[in-house]
Amino acid sequence: MSDCQLCNRLALLKQKADPAVVHEFENSILVLGEHQFYQGYCVLILKQHFREIHELSPEIQTEFHQELMQATQAIAMAFQPWKINHASLGNVVEHVHWHIFPRYLSDPQHQAHPWIHEAGFNLHIPDPLQIRDVVSKISEHLP
Ligand SMILES: [Zn+2]
Repeated sequence: MSDCQLCNRLALLKQKADPAVVHEFENSILVLGEHQFYQGYCVLILKQHFREIHELSPEIQTEFHQELMQATQAIAMAFQPWKINHASLGNVVEHVHWHIFPRYLSDPQHQAHPWIHEAGFNLHIPDPLQIRDVVSKISEHLP
């Protein structure tokens, strides 16, 4: 086991299928977010361990960005959100990943950053049926 939570998760994905995997790209894997406070929330994880996006080669930067755009477009097509928020911080988990948050006008705080609702996230943990449903709606729009 590595010290990196995402490297460990990627290693597990190789061993057995995970129903939260939406799509595997060349350089990254799109997984459903742990909560679905925002319907369609996903995380795009870089397959290789890097701490910073600028440390990737220019070619991989470009390809990874295109994968992020394809993932985003698929989420947008599946759920027609009002807006998409992207966040790549890595202060807690130091492995390059993007949070893709669809935002909806039904959220009274839609103009605030997505973590404003953090206290409610664990009230929206999807069950296996919901996972299957959301994953299939997004993956329909991916190659
Ligand atoms: Zn890692």
